[in-house]
Amino acid sequence: MRIIKYPHPTLRHQSKPLRRVDSEVKRIIHEMLDLMYAGQGIGLAANQVDLPYRMFVMNLESDPQAEDQQHVFINPVIARRNGTAEDEEGCLSLPEIFAPVKRSQQIVLSAYDLCGEELHCELDGLFARAIQHECDHLDGVLFVDRLSDSAKLSVKEALGELELEFAGLRRRGEIPDDEQIATRLRELEELRT
Ligand code: ZN
Repeated sequence: MRIIKYPHPTLRHQSKPLRRVDSEVKRIIHEMLDLMYAGQGIGLAANQVDLPYRMFVMNLESDPQAEDQQHVFINPVIARRNGTAEDEEGCLSLPEIFAPVKRSQQIVLSAYDLCGEELHCELDGLFARAIQHECDHLDGVLFVDRLSDSAKLSVKEALGELELEFAGLRRRGEIPDDEQIATRLRELEELRT
């Protein structure tokens, strides 16, 4: 498992809810947590590790020692939104790109945890922002899609560099073509969604 970068097509995939939390899902989640900490990120969605499932991991301190900050959200749904706030965001799939994004200030989230228990939480601040960023990933949306025109312009060059890098990986056969990626995602969905 590795973190895929923009413009990998799986980052544009609309992920499907999981039918159940089995031992394979638990294994995947633990690998995702390791990758998130290794990349010093605060959240990581399944799309970012090339998987078509609606789940993500989070630790706002990005510190495996801060266990109380470590969360797993499976089949998350944002039930309610309130207010607006703007702050800078980044993403492990868009390295070294940072820009301000407008999000809801407060949200109500429903999801399941790794034990299959239902969660309902009211969140605000960074927690609410990070959840919205990760839920977007599950719908194939990236934070750079939500920028103002001027912010979009400021990240254009960096996105172009990532696109070149990706084209190079493809030329060297390190990334399958779109059709192979879509087939693999479909097979994984048939197994667990
Ligand atoms: Zn992200």
